[in-house]
Amino acid sequence: MVVVKSIDELQKAKESLKGTIGFVPTMGALHQGHLTLIQRAREENDIVIVSIFVNPTQFLEGEDLDSYPRREEADRKICSVAKVDILFMPTIDDMYEDDELLISAPKVRGYILEGEKRPEHFDGMLQVVMKLLNLSSATNAYFGKKDAQQLALITQMVKNYFIPCRVIPCDIIRDENGLALSSRNAYLSKYEKQEALKLSKSLRKATKMVMSGEKRSKILIKEIESNLVGHNIKMEYVAIVSRDFKPLESIEIGNSMILLAVWVSGTRLIDNIWL
Ligand code: AMP
Repeated sequence: MVVVKSIDELQKAKESLKGTIGFVPTMGALHQGHLTLIQRAREENDIVIVSIFVNPTQFLEGEDLDSYPRREEADRKICSVAKVDILFMPTIDDMYEDDELLISAPKVRGYILEGEKRPEHFDGMLQVVMKLLNLSSATNAYFGKKDAQQLALITQMVKNYFIPCRVIPCDIIRDENGLALSSRNAYLSKYEKQEALKLSKSLRKATKMVMSGEKRSKILIKEIESNLVGHNIKMEYVAIVSRDFKPLESIEIGNSMILLAVWVSGTRLIDNIWL
């Protein structure tokens, strides 16, 4: 594995390798969720490139940009063991100049749910993903379903801008208790982790209700909301939408997602299930 910081170094490293490129963009503090994406990229491509870049333009004022976990040494080891060919770790100056051309998320799908609670987050996310897809020359790029709206918007960007890359959705990886893995879980105390289990538990409960015939969104959302209570839990939204993010009155199996965002003390967590 080569670790490259500058864009020049990345281009040189790429030139020395031949074949299809599997690309996994991340913000580091790698966990089993990231590793699963990397392993899949390894299986399906000749070359694997992973990027680690905590992208400032997707953090809003007052969010956790400065405290976002950074674990460079551990991340390098994980990538090396996973047989990554190129680990790209650019600096902010490598990636951005002043007065840049900007990318805007679509006005509806980019500004509901996550986009409503974190306005302009997706503009910054799409901006960096566009840069990274171009820099990596990815044949296949791997993204987690955990960030369902992000995945949908990247898929749309690739389509709308004719980017020659396939977007590959990957299943959500959870710990043994059901908690969706996230770099931000590192912020949670033992007690808060226990509280955070309510996210996946409520989704499992709703899934059971769907399996036994209850398909009405209103009823399912009410049930989930009633499970997302606790003195340090603050629910932001629970929504049932189609795979292309249109609100659904009732679950359509094969075309539905239940999405939620919850604060557990000072940590914002998201989770979802695809039905
Ligand atoms: P991040 O480092 O949080 O920006 O995530 C990088 C990529 O890993 C994104 O495509 C995420 O959706 C994906 N990812 C993060 N956590 C998980 C998880 N628990 N399961 C599957 N994919 C994940």
